[in-house]
Amino acid sequence: MSTPVDTPAPATTGAAPAALDVLHRVFGYDAFRGQQAAIIDQVVQGGDALVLMPTGGGKSLCYQVPALVRSGIGVVVSPLIALMQDQVDALAANGVRAEFLNSTQGPDERRRVEQAVLAGQVDMLYLAPERLKLESTRALLDRATVSLFAIDEAHCVAQWGHDFRPDYLELSVLHERWPTIPRIALTATATPQTHREISARLGLDDAAHFVADFDRPNIQYRIEPKAAALQQLLKFIRTEHAGDAGIVYCLSRNSVERTAAALADQGIAALPYHAGLDAGIRARNQSRFLREDGIVMVATIAFGMGIDKPDVRFVAHLDLPKSVEGYYQETGRAGRDGLPSTAWLAYGLNDVVQQRRMIDQSDGDAAHRRQLSAHLDAMLALCETIECRRVRLLAYFGQEFAPGGRESTACGNCDTCIAPPEAWDGTVPAQKLLSTIVRLEREHRQRYGAGHLVDILVGKRSPRVAELGHDALSTFGIGADLGEQEWRAVVRQLLAQGFVAVAGDGYGTLVLSPTSADVLGGRTSVRMRREPIRASRPARATRRAAAQPDMPTEAVPLFEALRVWRSTQAKERSVPAYVVFSDATLRGIAATRPDSIEQLAEVSGVGAAKLETYGELVLEVVAAAA
Ligand code: ADP
Ligand code: ZN
Repeated sequence: MSTPVDTPAPATTGAAPAALDVLHRVFGYDAFRGQQAAIIDQVVQGGDALVLMPTGGGKSLCYQVPALVRSGIGVVVSPLIALMQDQVDALAANGVRAEFLNSTQGPDERRRVEQAVLAGQVDMLYLAPERLKLESTRALLDRATVSLFAIDEAHCVAQWGHDFRPDYLELSVLHERWPTIPRIALTATATPQTHREISARLGLDDAAHFVADFDRPNIQYRIEPKAAALQQLLKFIRTEHAGDAGIVYCLSRNSVERTAAALADQGIAALPYHAGLDAGIRARNQSRFLREDGIVMVATIAFGMGIDKPDVRFVAHLDLPKSVEGYYQETGRAGRDGLPSTAWLAYGLNDVVQQRRMIDQSDGDAAHRRQLSAHLDAMLALCETIECRRVRLLAYFGQEFAPGGRESTACGNCDTCIAPPEAWDGTVPAQKLLSTIVRLEREHRQRYGAGHLVDILVGKRSPRVAELGHDALSTFGIGADLGEQEWRAVVRQLLAQGFVAVAGDGYGTLVLSPTSADVLGGRTSVRMRREPIRASRPARATRRAAAQPDMPTEAVPLFEALRVWRSTQAKERSVPAYVVFSDATLRGIAATRPDSIEQLAEVSGVGAAKLETYGELVLEVVAAAA
């Protein structure tokens, strides 16, 4: 008897013929994916929609197709001013008449766009949210025929979320001023709380809500203890992602600069990006990352929202993200194209101390600080879990991990699944540490940071220990059964679990927490994870070819030739490579070796406009490779 496997219903069921026609003709795709058809139907028929779909899920088509099916202009509100040009170029490459209005334009250019809008020569108009505050913009939309409003990155309306934009609060005007025009709000942020907040603030309670599966099966999640962070990063990039495009996130501008310089020193094509850089340099670095192959962007979280680059192969965090939402968003920028990618995070004791300290010193009221703390606690729980990371991550978004419809407790593609860590009872070491803190306070009236406490526990007579006479404490050397690294892991986990706290003095000194007494008194036991010894993974020199199951090995040379051709085209037209054709489409061409325009048109991602622009050129590359 064969096991029944849940197969999703054919994705095109229910899509209006007009929508399918646009999908084939304009975008060159065969079928809608997942909930796209249902979402598009809802909007084509004039209804409102709220769409929660992970990065790479295919949100853009959800408003682009209805905008082309309905008559009038599809207005897209987006905070991503720096990317509007690329978005408009990508649509233009498919023959769609797209324009944008934002603060980067001069008055003449704006006037040209406004006239085109009024003359009915625009299919899609991208707008920065602050434009909608202007009565002139509102009056323009009054005079034009608007087919729909798409609110992209809709989580920006959530006040306690990680990307709040005050201008987004004004978007309630859309419904008030143009009640009959359908709205579709989209985001890749999935927490139930953000979902509720978007719905309430944008007045979408009566809209159809579509919540996709948030799992990103092609992303491998890995979190490892931080020892020598830069060395660890270098090894990770060299052994697993040499030559790949990736993003490295750091918390501060300083560490961005230092890390980018260090990577560049080691021959890795790394560029810095943070809000303190000159705007021109920032724009140039972003543009190189998008246009060139294999650039590593070292950045603060100011970088990345809306970055459409489909072939980012890894996202590395050198510092702990402040929330699970942030972590999911940032790691989600890897592998939009569905090919294997890695989310790698190095995390250590100092991260916890530093973040707790930052929260204590942050502006805002107690409620705000509690919120920040709750975010951090959830992130720490993800780091310290001995269970599957993916299961934990999805649970945070209120989803179950259930591939193929079957419930499962492990994904097989995260570090804890690949090399399961052991759990151990850390109560005794916890008591040793806590009683050292108690004794120092009682006998010396002083508080100390983790480094000094660990020195005392392992019995190390550092100059400071000797000078302060701490080698006379009764706890001196009682922890010699564990090494320094192990002790740091103990302290980190106690901090993460709240059994010890960081003092509010700004020095990162450790103090008892409200629950310390329970541990000291033996009423609570402390469960800890022991890091598994990881066999270092083999270099993946053949990964590129191996990662493309739908492309036979003999097609690889043609694929590489097409990539070279694409990069010349992209440079000539000064658009990102993916605007010419995506990797997926080039793979399709390489696998089928079309020798006529008709055959080329069959390849997924080749629509009428691209056939017209590139058809003959592509056939030449194919013929030359034969
Ligand atoms: P999101 O905005 O949700 O992150 P995108 O809209 O950028 O995702 O889509 C991700 C990738 O998937 C893009 O390269 C897009 O062209 C492709 N894609 C989306 N929908 C389809 C489809 N129905 N068929 C084939 N490719 C698709
Ligand atoms: Zn797993």
